[in-house]
Amino acid sequence: MDSEQLREYGHRMVDFIADYYKTIEDFPVLSQVQPGYLHKLLPDSAPDHPETLDQVLDDVRAKILPGVTHWQSPSFFAYYPSNSSVAGFLGEMLSAGLGIVGFSWVTSPAATELEMIVLDWLAKLLNLPEQFMSKGNGGGVIQGSASEAVLVVLIAARDKVLRSVGKNALEKLVVYSSDQTHSALQKACQIAGIHPENCRVLKTDSATNYALRPELLQEAVSRDLEAGLIPFFLCANVGTTSSTAVDPLAALGKIANRNEMWFHVDAAYAGSACICPEYRQYIDGVETADSFNMNAHKWFLTNFDCSLLWVKDQDSLTLALSTNPEFLKNKASQANLVVDYKDWQIPLGRRFRSLKLWMVLRLYGSETLKSYIRNHIKLAKEFEQLVSQDPNFEIVTPRIFALVCFRLVPVKNEEKKCNNRNRALLDAVNSSGKLFISHTALSGKIVLRCAIGAPLTEEKHVKEAWKVIQEEASYLLHK
Ligand code: PLP
Repeated sequence: MDSEQLREYGHRMVDFIADYYKTIEDFPVLSQVQPGYLHKLLPDSAPDHPETLDQVLDDVRAKILPGVTHWQSPSFFAYYPSNSSVAGFLGEMLSAGLGIVGFSWVTSPAATELEMIVLDWLAKLLNLPEQFMSKGNGGGVIQGSASEAVLVVLIAARDKVLRSVGKNALEKLVVYSSDQTHSALQKACQIAGIHPENCRVLKTDSATNYALRPELLQEAVSRDLEAGLIPFFLCANVGTTSSTAVDPLAALGKIANRNEMWFHVDAAYAGSACICPEYRQYIDGVETADSFNMNAHKWFLTNFDCSLLWVKDQDSLTLALSTNPEFLKNKASQANLVVDYKDWQIPLGRRFRSLKLWMVLRLYGSETLKSYIRNHIKLAKEFEQLVSQDPNFEIVTPRIFALVCFRLVPVKNEEKKCNNRNRALLDAVNSSGKLFISHTALSGKIVLRCAIGAPLTEEKHVKEAWKVIQEEASYLLHK
């Protein structure tokens, strides 16, 4: 590492990125390239000799940026946005600069201890029960993604139940979730060896706005118990991926607790909103959960990746995930004086990710973060109002946070044609390059999703997005 080169190149790279943000609105939000475009532009093998930073940056401009979908564009409304901020970016930089690998406490004590402290801070902001904090047997850990979070708790729960009923019972273990649960759970079940026939995907519908009905869970659990199976894991959602449905945690948790099942709450998207007192109600009942997850990289100004997982019983995690090879032994770990996060996750190595969350919390403060969330929700309300004033459109599910689910209404009750028309509208809007929205299906209906949550989005971008959607719709309807 040549410090002077870092200084010179680093300043130039920051300038490059700052200029990118200045001109971000000039790019088509959704990349318009065709598959394989980059193979045609880059050589077949790596260079034998060094090239200059100018050469590389020229290629970034000419060849890479056309193939980038601009997630940080103020007109990015697809999926759930993934936030970047100055504080998050600086934290990432510092983490890369220090270049540590903090798998055990001893490999960088500050990395472990800052992670514990910052997750306690956030648990306090979310008003999570004390059992999720690091004082007792609980605590928080940063995972790369919500998918990793659900996988590690599923494995912890699996091993916990197998320790009591015997290893041969794996085939009998049953997992429960609603049909709105993210496919991350299905993947976790595949990896954890849960029998595919033992994954109960419970039906939801518009009557509960796609929230899981506790009575359906109770019926399924009773049926499985009668059949000699072992219910062991429930995943509930606060803010589903398709439509931000909120499952009734307290009622579901009661059933899970009564049946000694592990209860995981996936609040990957909506967890951030729950730092605002007026949205905290959506996680009421979290005290009955064993684990709780939110992605700070979605809606909390923290650059990807930073998925926060809290558990009440860290022993369940470490019993399932710890290894203790000779080459990693050290006094602090052997004396059981410290947390070694390698035992709370799948990989060994881990980055110093708490730095960026710490910087976000310190450089912005929780009141700014609350205003940030509230502003997006206000913009989403405005978008919802615009949609509902247009007779060609309808709101499909009531908006709770900053996602609006809407669609073109069917003409003469022709649902199938209506789905095709909504797909055509989605394509037309996204090919315009002026904004990017995504879609889902609810009760067989193709639904358009406008998720407001990119840090640079202002009222004018929301209004402009609606104008483009209306124009494209009008063109389609009169074709
Ligand atoms: N859970 C929910 C509710 C989500 O919305 C998402 C992604 O959008 C996920 C899980 C998966 O997230 P990740 O990409 O962090 O694995």
